[in-house]
Amino acid sequence: MTDSNKKLGFDTRKIHAGYRSEEHNYAVAVPIYQTASYDLGSVERARKVFSLEEIGSIYTRIGSPTTAVLEQRVADLDGATAAIALASGMAAVSYTLLQLTEGGGRILSLPNIYGGTVDSFLRVYPSLGIGIDYPEDIHDPKSYEKAIREDTKAIFIESISNPNAELVDIKAIAEVAHKHNLPLVVDNTFATPYLFNPFEHGADIVVYSATKALNGHGNTIAGLILENGQFDWGNGKFPQFEKKEHVLRTREQVYRSFLEAAPGAVFTTRIRLTYLNYLGAALSSFDAFLVLQGIETLSERVSKQVSTAKKLIQYLEGKDEVLWVKHPEAKNSTYKELASAYFPKGTGAIFTFGLTGTKEERDAFLDSLELFSYHANVGDARSIIINSPETTHGELNKEQQAMADIPPETVRISVGLEDPEDLINDLERSFQKVYHP
Ligand SMILES: *Cc1c(COP(=O)(O)O)cnc(C)c1O
Repeated sequence: MTDSNKKLGFDTRKIHAGYRSEEHNYAVAVPIYQTASYDLGSVERARKVFSLEEIGSIYTRIGSPTTAVLEQRVADLDGATAAIALASGMAAVSYTLLQLTEGGGRILSLPNIYGGTVDSFLRVYPSLGIGIDYPEDIHDPKSYEKAIREDTKAIFIESISNPNAELVDIKAIAEVAHKHNLPLVVDNTFATPYLFNPFEHGADIVVYSATKALNGHGNTIAGLILENGQFDWGNGKFPQFEKKEHVLRTREQVYRSFLEAAPGAVFTTRIRLTYLNYLGAALSSFDAFLVLQGIETLSERVSKQVSTAKKLIQYLEGKDEVLWVKHPEAKNSTYKELASAYFPKGTGAIFTFGLTGTKEERDAFLDSLELFSYHANVGDARSIIINSPETTHGELNKEQQAMADIPPETVRISVGLEDPEDLINDLERSFQKVYHP
């Protein structure tokens, strides 16, 4: 590939960006580097690599040539200056928030996001001395401003929320964050780089669970953190980036800070040399390969899934057994305006609906489906259905579920790549069997 990737279109870059076959024995597919460690060559080269003078692989816990292609490819798709691949989306979320709150502090977030993230807010961060706050009204930027405290270190949101596909005014929230010298972190998992670019709307850090639509085939767990090099980490709130460190010494033994040693990649370089290095959630080269393979068809998959989701939503809205549908495509959605402002290609293929009837009828409905797969993932090639309140958001108690807007009748669908008619027939057959026997 040429160096002019930036000028190429999204679909071209999703196949070519970040990979030069001449650097890999002219292999056409990105090779899986199945090795724990890398020869340093000579003592002189070791000095260069260890002082960051030369970028080179050292040990697979902190990166491999395969994971490096994945990092560069996703960074290119989102216009990031740097990225780091990790062993899971949760590692990406938690390493990011831990690095931002080192020494204590608070994160301003939203109550209606991924169940695992909200659960970690309740069960991990408090015991580490990290506080989590929510704005009173997630749709009012003033409410965010009110919730910012002296030791707040970041605002963390999802671009499309899990599971109800709720949207927030990202630009307005970014303005509040920047006014208070705080970075805006956006979990862009549901949207993927194809539907939404958070950096273009004020995000400073973007995180992904690559397990979902980025990989798209439900065959691996992976995560990513991206930065765009715009945020001023030297603004006084984040001494961890300004501290001169022994590990960052030049070969002349001059100590440097991350700000000095890794301009444009301050955040992810520190994640690599600190969190990934010591806490160890390393992505294997094989898993990075699977995500790369998935990204080659990202646009084609997501655009078909968005189109099928519209058909399923329309169908479900016509059913007496369905109490409500939550997705910006739903008739009475309050998110139409935000959707057209931020998501011209659609707001994804994951939505929820309320199923009428008794608990037994709802259980029977799920058990009667033959085509929909019943499990806790999303963004797969297979269509997936799940009763979120009892499973993916089951760690939350009734009150927290109410706060996250997940009543007991909630069912979540993640639309796959099957024929839409077959999916609708599967739902219809199950409705008839359970509700009209
Ligand atoms: C799944 C998910 C995560 C966690 O990712 P894993 O890869 O499962 O660790 C984080 N955020 C969102 C929005 C998710 O859907």
